[in-house]
Amino acid sequence: MKTEIAIARAFIDQCIEIHNTRRLDSSTASMTKYWVSELQNSVANRCVQLHGGWGYMQEYPICRAYTDARPQTIYGGSNEIMKDLIARKIIAD
Ligand SMILES: Cc1cc2nc3c(=O)[nH]c(=O)nc-3n(C[C@H](O)[C@H](O)[C@H](O)COP(=O)(O)OP(=O)(O)OC[C@H]3O[C@@H](n4cnc5c(N)ncnc54)[C@H](O)[C@@H]3O)c2cc1C
Repeated sequence: MKTEIAIARAFIDQCIEIHNTRRLDSSTASMTKYWVSELQNSVANRCVQLHGGWGYMQEYPICRAYTDARPQTIYGGSNEIMKDLIARKIIAD
């Protein structure tokens, strides 16, 4: 999980650098939103499993991380729409 998070951070850092020069296109931004929010859910899900029943108790931060992760693939443009935007750019190119 740490490896996957490190890779995601490198990708996000690269996108921030491009964005700071006003060159980040919507397709790449969609890739970031889609892929990183999927990873966030995957990591939170595995962390709940790692903690066993305690991971499902609302008193513990891991449960909050799990519930906070879930809507990330829905709001701000759902990930299906992100994929649609990415595909449109592939077709346009
Ligand atoms: C906690 C929360 C906070 C929010 N805050 C804001 C906010 O501050 N401002 C704001 O404007 N909106 C906000 N939203 C709305 C959010 O952006 C929308 O929920 C989101 O755009 C999805 O729309 P929907 O819920 O109507 O789902 P729908 O559009 O009904 O979609 C339902 C499902 O169908 C899928 N789907 C829809 N169209 C397609 C397609 N063409 N191809 C494939 N799959 C598709 C979607 O991916 C989704 O999984 C918020 C939502 C939530 C849950």
